[in-house]
Amino acid sequence: MAGFELDKIVSLCKRRGFIFSGSDIYGGLANTWDYGPYGVELKNNVKAAWWKAVVYRREDILGMDAGILMHAKVWEASGHVKSFFDLKSDCKSCKKRFKTVDLKDKSRCPECGGELTESRPFNLMFETRQGPIEDEGSLVYLRPETAQGMFVNFLNILDSRHPKLPFGLAQIGKAFRNEVTPGNFIFRTREFEQMEIEYFVYPKDADRYYEYWVNERFNWYLNLGIKKENLRLRPHAKEELAHYALACTDIEYKFPFGWSELEGVANRTDFDLRQHSEFSGKDLRYFDDATKERFYPYIIEPSGGVDRSVLAFLVDAYDEEKVKDDIRVVLRLHKDLAPTKVAVLPLLKNRPEIVELAKKITQDLKKTFVCVYDDTGAIGKLYRRQDEVGTLYCVTVDVQSLEDRQVTIRDRDTMKQDRVSIDKLKEYLNERLR
Ligand code: ATP
Repeated sequence: MAGFELDKIVSLCKRRGFIFSGSDIYGGLANTWDYGPYGVELKNNVKAAWWKAVVYRREDILGMDAGILMHAKVWEASGHVKSFFDLKSDCKSCKKRFKTVDLKDKSRCPECGGELTESRPFNLMFETRQGPIEDEGSLVYLRPETAQGMFVNFLNILDSRHPKLPFGLAQIGKAFRNEVTPGNFIFRTREFEQMEIEYFVYPKDADRYYEYWVNERFNWYLNLGIKKENLRLRPHAKEELAHYALACTDIEYKFPFGWSELEGVANRTDFDLRQHSEFSGKDLRYFDDATKERFYPYIIEPSGGVDRSVLAFLVDAYDEEKVKDDIRVVLRLHKDLAPTKVAVLPLLKNRPEIVELAKKITQDLKKTFVCVYDDTGAIGKLYRRQDEVGTLYCVTVDVQSLEDRQVTIRDRDTMKQDRVSIDKLKEYLNERLR
């Protein structure tokens, strides 16, 4: 929508309990965010939609969940210890830190005009110590990506599940990067969640599967309601590619702060399996039954961010529309993503029979749908509250309901109301929500 600002989303998220700033009562910890009651539902729904699309609905991808703490050698093999750097400069006066790329060719501090230090490499991995003794052997890193957990389990998967090429592994989990310039709400943070697939293929098929995954992932966002005009593909130029990648395409979303990466799809070649074979001394080649050959498969990696997706879904769903003399704020989230599917609202809260019936309906619907009961305001206010959090259907129980055993169902998007028999309520909702 025109004139859209990120602030509107940030404020809605706080007001309605989606996302709060971290450690709030202590003045906050910069760029940390906590997901509240609606936020956690939305985030879980995003992850569930991804898992359903890439694991449950397919025959060729297995799920897994590796640890955040891994052997320090993993990160030597992956190249992160040596080359997971951002170049940065510090301002000698105001002490602010900037990414060299963001400074473009500026020679003075963009904030205060002070002198800048030389540009220096800054490793993005968080270090910590494991165990009671602080020696060199106790150094561990918080993983900066989930991918390596899948590479180091390649052999375990082959030995336990015997998958045949092409096949993939999928994982969702936290990753940590000591970013120089975090910001834009939950877009870039130092602690975040990733959804990654490592898809192992015959090297000759790598180009084909790379294209396939770019399309597949692009369509996933569209199928969950992202508007086509807000999504685009950006293939990387050769100079931009990471040291391990032969090709990479970003799926970008038109955020209020400009087009930015939601997910990257890369052809990682056989780099990772080769490196881990060399560093671990274990043979990570795949044995092909047909040709009796051993070789390193190529890997196609679609790597997306959970938090960035949540932000894109929120921004895309946010709508303001004029209803009579009022502005209606509504989150038009896809039905699979909406935190609450149904709200049951008694029209008159001072009529115990109505309240009792409404609560009974709620309890019954809760067995099948995420459903809430709310009687803390007049009906107009209750509707507005549900619209703002994207609730798909509001069921209103009124005096008439006591007589005719029917309720009114209001659709979030069209505001159209249907009168439905209580007996048929589940069927009505099932048809629309399944
Ligand atoms: P960027 O260029 O924006 O820093 P990247 O290219 O380094 O991202 P990848 O290493 O490809 O990111 O990570 C895969 C995905 O993980 C990204 O597409 C993004 O969705 C997510 N991601 C990476 N870094 C962050 C972060 N600091 N905060 C939130 N999400 C992140």
